[in-house]
Amino acid sequence: MSQAKIIAIDGPAASGKTTLGVQLARRLDYLFFDTGVMYRAITWAALDRGVPLDNPEALTRLAEEVVIDVRPPSRDDGRLSDVLLDGQDITWEIRHPQVDQNVSVVSAYPGVRSALFNHQRRVGLRGHVVMVGRDIGTVVLPEADLKIYLDASVEERARRRYAELVARGASARYEDVLEDMHRRDRIDSTRAIAPLRPAEDAVILSSDGLEADEVLERALALVHQCQEQPSRE
Ligand code: C5P
Repeated sequence: MSQAKIIAIDGPAASGKTTLGVQLARRLDYLFFDTGVMYRAITWAALDRGVPLDNPEALTRLAEEVVIDVRPPSRDDGRLSDVLLDGQDITWEIRHPQVDQNVSVVSAYPGVRSALFNHQRRVGLRGHVVMVGRDIGTVVLPEADLKIYLDASVEERARRRYAELVARGASARYEDVLEDMHRRDRIDSTRAIAPLRPAEDAVILSSDGLEADEVLERALALVHQCQEQPSRE
């Protein structure tokens, strides 16, 4: 039985998708691709250039014009990859709380999503990839061999995100992070296009109360159990 070649991990913010995706990709020697950084890069560019966030046409144009590049990390400062926008390194800028607060609004616009879709799909179809996002199993790569939907309670996710921000020296209040998490969940899961939800054939894992290693072991077991899908365009 051959193991899964295309692995999709979806789930809400801070459910542990990135941690799991990075570790899984390392163990399997696959590419790790975090699609969230693309929506974050567009949001940061809009804020930086003063593009109004309530103007879907202007945001779509921006998403079509800019070149987002995700490369292996060039510095040892905790980054998982370099994120470049038109050649400028914005790896840490896209983690700013202002981006957190606005990214769900920007990513709900169909034009923005379709500007990023082809690139994501092309990378995914090459295989040997762990792709992480909200709509990978449902929209971007419905033919993925293994779809994991990683969930955790909103309080647990807010605690994790708050700890990350504090560790990076950012000033944040837990209550604000929790409120933002609720808001993003609501926007991501109720938007008209590509809403956050598990694919029908996804395996739902909860990371509540589990160490990252335990989640990884469960995911690895699924990878080895899972047969590569026979037909793929
Ligand atoms: O995963 P991360 O929190 O970095 O994603 C930031 C935002 O990008 C999400 O809240 C969601 O609005 C959007 N996103 C999306 N589809 C994806 C990945 C991220 O809409 N595949």
